[in-house]
Amino acid sequence: MSGAVRANILLVDDHDENLLALEGILEPLGHRLVSVTSGTAALKQLLLEDFACILLDVQMPDLDGYELAELIKRRERSQHIPIVFVTALSQEEHHLYRGYSAGAVDYIFKPIDPNILRSKVAVFVELWEKNTQLQRQAEQLHEQELAAFEQASEERYRQLADAMPQIVWTADVDGNATYFNRRWFEYTGTTPDEAGAHAWHAVVHPDDLPTVAARREQTLNSGETFEVEYRFRGSDGGYRWHLGRAVPMRNAEGDIDFWIGTATDIHDRKLIEDQRSFILAVGDALSQGLDYRDTLQRVADLAAGEIADWCSVHSVETDGTIVQLAVSHTDPARVTFARELQERYPDEPDALTGVPAVIRRGEPELIPEITDEMLRAGTLDELHFELISQLGLRSYMCVPLKGRDRVLGAITLVSSDSGRRFGAEDLLLAEELARRAATAIENARLFRAAEERAQAARVLAAIGDGVMLVDRTDRVRLWNRAAERITGLPEAQVIGRTVTSAVPGWETIEPRLSVARAGQAGRAESVPLELGSRELWLSISAVGYEDGTVYAFRDLTEERALETMRQDIVATVSHELRTPLAAIYGAALTLRRDDIELEAQLHEKLLEVITEESDRLAAIVNDLLLASQLDTGTIKANIERCDPHEIAQLEVDAARTHLPENVELALEAPKALPAVAADSGQLRQVLSNLIDNAIKYSPLGGTVTVLLSPNGRNVRFSITDSGLGIPPADQRRIFEKFYRLDPGMSRGIGGTGLGLYICRELVRRVDGRIWVESDGASGSTFHVEIPQERASPHANGRRQETVSAI
Ligand code: ADP
Repeated sequence: MSGAVRANILLVDDHDENLLALEGILEPLGHRLVSVTSGTAALKQLLLEDFACILLDVQMPDLDGYELAELIKRRERSQHIPIVFVTALSQEEHHLYRGYSAGAVDYIFKPIDPNILRSKVAVFVELWEKNTQLQRQAEQLHEQELAAFEQASEERYRQLADAMPQIVWTADVDGNATYFNRRWFEYTGTTPDEAGAHAWHAVVHPDDLPTVAARREQTLNSGETFEVEYRFRGSDGGYRWHLGRAVPMRNAEGDIDFWIGTATDIHDRKLIEDQRSFILAVGDALSQGLDYRDTLQRVADLAAGEIADWCSVHSVETDGTIVQLAVSHTDPARVTFARELQERYPDEPDALTGVPAVIRRGEPELIPEITDEMLRAGTLDELHFELISQLGLRSYMCVPLKGRDRVLGAITLVSSDSGRRFGAEDLLLAEELARRAATAIENARLFRAAEERAQAARVLAAIGDGVMLVDRTDRVRLWNRAAERITGLPEAQVIGRTVTSAVPGWETIEPRLSVARAGQAGRAESVPLELGSRELWLSISAVGYEDGTVYAFRDLTEERALETMRQDIVATVSHELRTPLAAIYGAALTLRRDDIELEAQLHEKLLEVITEESDRLAAIVNDLLLASQLDTGTIKANIERCDPHEIAQLEVDAARTHLPENVELALEAPKALPAVAADSGQLRQVLSNLIDNAIKYSPLGGTVTVLLSPNGRNVRFSITDSGLGIPPADQRRIFEKFYRLDPGMSRGIGGTGLGLYICRELVRRVDGRIWVESDGASGSTFHVEIPQERASPHANGRRQETVSAI
């Protein structure tokens, strides 16, 4: 507003001519004159505009000047306007008083002196102008003050924004940044020159830019609050997660004036969240399969995507070698390279850093930042140097996979392209990862071991060899089916007992066994085991394992018997054959001699030797032949009705022909004996063998008795001698082929060991029984029971059939 504003002057008079006169006088002053003819019109005018002064006629019909002045003075907006009364009234004092008390400032009396009026009005106008100017100045001053105040408060806001730990920015309606707080510059490391309208483009992570741009567009269109999570690049080049928010600031009309934005660092929280979800994902992967190699590969893949660029998992094999189980890289092309590199540069077992060192020490290793200085100073060994330069590594950590009682391996995490630097919290995460992976590996191994054990248990149950597991307290923990079968000892009787109480005779066996270490083949020992009346030959090998000893054994009894038999045949048969042959040979040679004249008696004697020894040879050969025929089943019993007494008598008589002098032979039989059903020739052979043995094994002489007695459905032949006797342990075995108590013939009594075998087989063929009783010292009694002949020809016929079927 300028000073050229014209002043308004209100002229009030009910007479137009008076008004014209006033206008005429005042016109030269150049002010705007507003003339009205009534008090009411004057009041109306005063409501519309402001006036520098009012010239008021005192005498008006409806509302006189005094009343109007009072009204004007009463209104606040108009009370300061100077009022000049124009009056023709006398200058009496009470009039003047009334006028002044009504608010008049001056009087002009009629007739009006134009000069006086003009100068008075000029004074009032000047006063008004001064006032107006003052007022304007005051207003201006107020505005200036206001501006200064605003500036101050804006500064205060700015200071506040700068003091905030968050990033704060403002943007215009179109989203162009207009202000960034100090934290922005500190965090991003940019300068105010770079803080353009789109400065954020340069610092938002490229991967997050599309999302942020789309959200921003949406927000600018809708005017809604903007909220998004993104990564901002810090001055060190690393990215940190921020929560970005922008709120629209609206004016009184509700239109958006500008935007205020904030970016809060939520990196740590985000990391914890990410870590939590990563650990959950790892847990998921680990729980999915029991093939831990696949599982660890999945874990490595997860880790390489989430917390590192490169991840590898190594394990310590049972022989102590370290193998790479899994390797993963965010860039799949590098995986092969990483693997090859590993092969080209096998980890140095003595290296100070790296996988073997971590495994050896069981302690993690963290290199937050691999610097050129470190490389130059040789802090890292050659392999790492190579890895680092080839793969562009920035940060590295390696954590041991700790099992319950040993280190199972290690997980290596490496950052390269992402530029990420591992810190203490990353190491904690890696350790958590390792802890879970180790548990998974151990579980998988335990499961596999359990599977193997279950498998092994099934195999153990099924295999033909006896297996016994004895724990450290000498108790039997496993006794498989074959062990039961071989020994005849049921599992229930053995398990849980000490081995010596469970397996009779174990104490004599154990010292003979050499216990091999686990994984090595034990040397098998052939040992005898006496179980009640049975003697077993076992081939036992023993292997120690961490909780005790495993014994595996095989029944050699039969093989052993065959082997012994083979040896015995060679020993006894050859001896038995050689003796008569030698005698025959000697006699024949003597007979053929020309140089000496043999006496007739000697000649006879020699011929007798030849005959006798030939008989003996023939008998041996006969026995061999008979035994083999019995084996092959080619011999048949021709069962007929036989008189037991007659047969016994015949054999006793035959034996008496060559009875040694010191032996007596007696036959005792009741008068009447039932007939037996037998092959008479074979029955004679049985009795002959038994009587011959009784005589033969009574080297000191004595009485041999053949006792016949009826026994139920049988007739019993009992041949008793007072000779060497047979120990109980051998009483069953002497009936085996070639079995002799004294194969070395230390007692000088020869034999083939076939006699009793032949007896047993012949007796068996007529459904008879043969056994021996002896206390092992004072003689023996051999019993033979032969079924009585039954009158029924049918029964007879049936027996015949049965026999021939054998
Ligand atoms: P051998 O030709 O050796 O006599 P046997 O089969 O007839 O063969 O007898 C087997 C073994 O039984 C003999 O070697 C002997 O040790 C023992 N034996 C047999 N009969 C008697 C007996 N009456 N008294 C003692 N030992 C006997």
